[in-house]
Amino acid sequence: MQTILGHIEALHHESGSLVCVYDPDDRVSYANPAFRSAFFLGHDERPLWCDLMRRNHRLGRGSRIDAPDFEGWLVATLSRRAKLAHRSFESDLVDGRWLWIVETTVASGWGMFVGSDITGLRLHDRALRKARDRALREAQTDDLTGVSNRRHMMSMLEAFVTGQAVGGFRHGCVCILDIDHFKRLNDTYGHQVGDEALIAVARCARATLPVKDAFGRLGGEEFILILPNRSLAEGRLVVEGLLDALRACRLSSLHPDLRLTTSVGMTEICMGDDARIVLSRADRLLYEAKAAGRDRLVCG
Ligand code: GH3
Ligand code: MG
Ligand code: MG
Repeated sequence: MQTILGHIEALHHESGSLVCVYDPDDRVSYANPAFRSAFFLGHDERPLWCDLMRRNHRLGRGSRIDAPDFEGWLVATLSRRAKLAHRSFESDLVDGRWLWIVETTVASGWGMFVGSDITGLRLHDRALRKARDRALREAQTDDLTGVSNRRHMMSMLEAFVTGQAVGGFRHGCVCILDIDHFKRLNDTYGHQVGDEALIAVARCARATLPVKDAFGRLGGEEFILILPNRSLAEGRLVVEGLLDALRACRLSSLHPDLRLTTSVGMTEICMGDDARIVLSRADRLLYEAKAAGRDRLVCG
């Protein structure tokens, strides 16, 4: 007799809905035939979500992406991906189909994508809804770097400390990152190279961090990182890896050898914390990191 899981798999196999399950690294773990056909995924392939999007974009198929800069689009999309328990939106494919997509993420970091074909529905409202969604996304995105802006990060931090984030977890760490001697970089190489460096830092961080971690720009050369469901020791490993990646990050096409370092203050969420208290604690630890010589992480 077939188990319930066997029946579910058989149903997904026949379903016209597009179904895909991602593991905590954002790698395809399961996809049904409808998904594989729409996104040109081979039977045994298990790519990372971002590599699948990159490949389809290069070959002009899969999701329709209007943004002029694909990597910028990717960074902005990763800033929203897998951060909420539920997310739904409309999206169109290069082949002309329209999908209503529902994404679900659980505390373990596993995620599910379900897309339903809505090509025939409410055609005349579509442009309006698309414009509204774009405006909403832009209100959450930092103009220069494409990662989440201060407003979006603060609302995610608020949701996190009040237990409204994915899985209801309040447990985790919050970091403030500040680039070292950034004024000197601006003064030496010019503001434009400074801008280029900020973009490189944001992209490097987004590419290095697990998808469930939220990373955004607080302003200037300061960034914030939320690490859900991690102890201080686990958070330290993530941030030390990120600092190594940032030290090695190529910042400017004009000055290929230019590098920078970053200081970080990291604090663990405690019972009774609110977003403001968490930030001020992380800020104090950041100040300690600067005072101790920069290029380091201080936890508390
Ligand atoms: P510290 O190691 O103590 O953090 O020194 P710092 O020079 O990084 O810090 P400071 O606060 O003195 O200077 C931050 C500089 O960041 C000053 C400002 O001109 C620059 N900055 C802020 N926003 C931007 C931006 O959007 N683009 C560029 N290019 N520079 C920016
Ligand atoms: Mg600063
Ligand atoms: Mg600085």
